[in-house]
Amino acid sequence: MSAGHPERAAAFAADDARAHWHDQALWWVRAKRDRAARSIPEWESLRDVAAAVKAHVASRLPDLLEEFERNATRLGAKVHWARDAAEHNAVVHGVLAAHGVTRVAKSKSMLTEECGLNPYLEARGIEVVDTDLGERIVQLAGEPPSHIVLPAIHKKKEDIGELFHRHLATPPGLSDPKALTEAARGHLRERFLAAQAGITGVNFAIAETGGVVVCTNEGNADLGSSLPPVHIACMGVEKIVPRARDLGVFLRLLARSATGQAITTYTTHFHGPIRGGELHVVIVDAGRSAILAQDPFRSVLRCIRCGACMNTCPVFRRSGGYSYGYIIPGPLGSVLAPHRDAAAHATLPFASTLCGSCDDVCPVRIDLHEQLLSWRREIGERGLLPWPKRIGMAIASRILRSGWLYRLAGRTLRAILRVFPGLGRGSAWGRTRELPPMPKESFRDLHRRRT
Ligand code: SF4
Repeated sequence: MSAGHPERAAAFAADDARAHWHDQALWWVRAKRDRAARSIPEWESLRDVAAAVKAHVASRLPDLLEEFERNATRLGAKVHWARDAAEHNAVVHGVLAAHGVTRVAKSKSMLTEECGLNPYLEARGIEVVDTDLGERIVQLAGEPPSHIVLPAIHKKKEDIGELFHRHLATPPGLSDPKALTEAARGHLRERFLAAQAGITGVNFAIAETGGVVVCTNEGNADLGSSLPPVHIACMGVEKIVPRARDLGVFLRLLARSATGQAITTYTTHFHGPIRGGELHVVIVDAGRSAILAQDPFRSVLRCIRCGACMNTCPVFRRSGGYSYGYIIPGPLGSVLAPHRDAAAHATLPFASTLCGSCDDVCPVRIDLHEQLLSWRREIGERGLLPWPKRIGMAIASRILRSGWLYRLAGRTLRAILRVFPGLGRGSAWGRTRELPPMPKESFRDLHRRRT
């Protein structure tokens, strides 16, 4: 059997220092998100409205997509429909091939990652340069992103210095973030100027106007789409919002939830192609309609890909993005991956404490932990649990159904812990949960002494 989440998580946690640092880095982003959310008194109402708008979108998706197509076409864009990843890649390649394009600048798009667009184009002789800094770092390292908003969060600045030294000829040992960013900037500027086409993702597509909106912090989507004459914007069907005025709700939620910023540095609206250029919008289903048809999972299509559920998840923070073995990690990935292949991703719904913290931070109120629970049930019913877990669950179920067995198990466990008090404390997981020794004096005494 191939490795599942527990084995990959153990490999990540084996490097204790890195696991701790990863945990702290993401918790810092989570704390920033909290401060940004608290700065808006109407935050909870915004979440309610966003969830309601997305529920409305789900109930009228075909109408809204067609309305978007009509309006985008009227503005001069060409709209393509793709049933799955293969059709998406073929459409994008078709547009590029028709223009003889061999060099593309691509900004961050999880959809193109999901579709495997880069290797598909590279196998056909087209060079694709990811222009988001984090994406470029993982592209140079030959790795996929480990987080949907912070793709290189698993790398330390020293790792990046070494990578840039090998690929961009920066001085050996350079690890100053500002100097590394400057080096990447110069390198990417050349790629922007050489690109014959730009590919971007889409954060929001407005049915009422036919415009698409792309949010970045680096302005790379703007350069990549306005310098070359061909712009291809790739979007999942769920990116639609009905009206331009709905955008305000989502833009206020997105950046605050993602990074704790009030708004992304660049929020670019594309209404038709640039003068003399072409704008192609590729609308992709790739299994989304199937999710929409399933009651317990439908609401996951509200997702605006802010990454907040990952930053807060205690399992994600301590096990790293690659432990999920799917392009989207964390609680969101653990819900989405089994829709692709339940057998291959059967361990993911169990990669959660079910603490519900993901639900608490989700700006569109997706009940992620309920969906993880539904997947656990589903995976059990389909017989996809590994046998040790099946036996363990059968024993636990028997014990929990009987009062005397439950008491006996409790007494036995306490007796074992009396004989072996250190049991379980030696693991990497256990170490990260150790609390510092409690001071002998009370907190009040401590406070008096310090003030
Ligand atoms: S599920 Fe919610 S918190 Fe997670 S990425 Fe999507 S919108 Fe953000």
